[in-house]
Amino acid sequence: MKVPLLDLKPQYQQIKEKVLPEVMEIIESQGFILGPKVEKLEKEMAAYLGAQYTLGCSSGTDALLLALMALDIGKDDEVITTPYTFFATAGSIARVGATARFVDIDPATFLMRVDQIENAITPKTKAIMPVHLFGQCVDMEPLMNIARKHKLAVIEDAAQAIGSKYQGKDAGTFGDTGCFSFFPSKNLGCFGDGGLVSTNRQALHERLKGLRVHGGQVQYQHLEVGLNARIDALQAAVVSVKLPFLAGWTEGRRKNAALYNELFKGNPKVVTPIEKPDCFHIYNQYVIRVNNRDALKAHLAEKEIGCSVYYPLSLHQQKCFANLGYKKGDFPESEKAADTSLALPIFPELNREQIEFVAKTINEFTA
Ligand SMILES: *Cc1c(COP(=O)(O)O)cnc(C)c1O
Repeated sequence: MKVPLLDLKPQYQQIKEKVLPEVMEIIESQGFILGPKVEKLEKEMAAYLGAQYTLGCSSGTDALLLALMALDIGKDDEVITTPYTFFATAGSIARVGATARFVDIDPATFLMRVDQIENAITPKTKAIMPVHLFGQCVDMEPLMNIARKHKLAVIEDAAQAIGSKYQGKDAGTFGDTGCFSFFPSKNLGCFGDGGLVSTNRQALHERLKGLRVHGGQVQYQHLEVGLNARIDALQAAVVSVKLPFLAGWTEGRRKNAALYNELFKGNPKVVTPIEKPDCFHIYNQYVIRVNNRDALKAHLAEKEIGCSVYYPLSLHQQKCFANLGYKKGDFPESEKAADTSLALPIFPELNREQIEFVAKTINEFTA
């Protein structure tokens, strides 16, 4: 039995009849840039998230960049975030000329430790960038309290967390902005690159809108230097078609996670992910921890079971961030997670037999 880490083909089969006419309509119209499909998606996403405004953009990375730029974060500013995340989180901070300041993670959730944020605040701190990693929210209530107390902006990296909830509220709607990705491997993926920024602040939304098209909403009138960071009409149409399916797909992921949890229950060698009581986890990834991770990974590859390490090297140890002055040992929990975590297949269309096969293979190997 072959079990891929992710197979998008069965999902495409579910939406094929709906998505192809939408794509054809755009091609026939030859209207590829912004326009009605993008506006439609932005309205649907605002309603879905419970946010006042959303802005479609070219990727999750550009969503983060736009948010940082719109909040005037740049040179001499510091942004507090986690070293255990996809590169784009800290990459976007560096790209605007600001400095990432890391705090370690909670080993139980892989999420940034909110109780360490205040220790990392300096006179230069401008913002906090929490990452709702793997599909579960950071503790946003204490985080927002800290942000208010110290007058810091909050840019939520919700790239892996669309539809994830904290105290009943959607990821990406707590801070100044929520940044989402439609990269194909995210829970709501398009047919290429795409992203979205949500906000409840009108002035911020207008600024983001201008920054998306070279810094001015009126053509050839540039109020500031922006980006070309639009979402394609084609990608917006794809996401619109998929959005009504998202809740069902999320349920599929949650069911798969529950089955894995059950199957690993008697195995003390496998630490399974936890869902915090006030959270709704959407399992963009189902990440276990094992001591002999690399050996297990090689074994699973041999058995044709897909798996991956998210992430093998913490961001404070990346060569490009050597200038930040961190060294090995600075964030021990993040480093431990990098050595012991392993993401297993969790996509909604997996069947019971496949999950049982994955769990059985792991249980036998770790016995
Ligand atoms: C995927 C991802 C991004 C970047 O999104 P892209 O659309 O690939 O640019 C940013 N942060 C996190 C945590 C991600 O997982």
